[in-house]
Amino acid sequence: MSAGLHDILRQGAGRLAATLGLDPREARLEVQILLCHVLDKPRSWLIRHDRDELQAPSSYADLLARRLTGEPIAYLIGKREFFGLEFKTTPAVLIPRPETELLVELALARIPENRPCKVLDLGTGSGAIAISLAKNRPQVTVTAIDQSLEALAVARENAARLDTPKLRLLHSNWFSALASETFDLIVSNPPYVEAADPHLQRGDVRFEPLSALAAGVDGLDDIRRIAAAAPHHLKKPGGWLLFEHGYNQGEGCRKILRQQGFSEVATICDLAGLERVSVGLSAD
Ligand code: GLN
Repeated sequence: MSAGLHDILRQGAGRLAATLGLDPREARLEVQILLCHVLDKPRSWLIRHDRDELQAPSSYADLLARRLTGEPIAYLIGKREFFGLEFKTTPAVLIPRPETELLVELALARIPENRPCKVLDLGTGSGAIAISLAKNRPQVTVTAIDQSLEALAVARENAARLDTPKLRLLHSNWFSALASETFDLIVSNPPYVEAADPHLQRGDVRFEPLSALAAGVDGLDDIRRIAAAAPHHLKKPGGWLLFEHGYNQGEGCRKILRQQGFSEVATICDLAGLERVSVGLSAD
């Protein structure tokens, strides 16, 4: 049945807002994204054709129905923008988040522009961090590991599509496949949510891999593991470890880094003003 595009959007947004509790602007943006995806048109097209009659494809109704059950937009359309690049995103990987762009910026600030250097990304998922670093520092060799073969397949596809053939992808449980290899810099967006955090039962997170989200009672299990092993994999004299964490974990993370002998320990806030990334320089 055809209807005015304007009405299709208004009706879809109304249903999303009522069912998922989204605010009206967010709901409108989401239906626009779904419709653009099925029509293969940019958002500017929808805006220009707002008053047109349109036969909405049945795939639009299917996607809207799935969204109404809570499935994340990024999984429905199979992609998410991160650091100016478009990443394939499936339920095998965490959906790249804007706050993680801070981790990339802080890593780039510590990677020389014109000298070869070795970078390691732990728990790469879609490859968003590793590929963003590789694209912005072409002379750098980036190694990315993940313990999930499914995630590695997604990262491999992203690396090929985004033309980062030099990215080295390894199947590894943190450092297990790296023997005694050392790097100039190590980054990670590890799981860091407390296992009992009610946040895990809400919104998009319910559909994401739990192994990429939760890390023990206080959420710091993997951060402790990474901080303990990283000094053995950072070059002498001194290499940086940078990782993302929860808004209330800054103090705990700084303590862990100092206990492992890191210096220059600091926490940097994201755009929302929340403690988000901690850094440390390994001892000589
Ligand atoms: N920031 C994410 C969330 O709370 C968690 C991501 C992670 O564990 N690395 O939804």
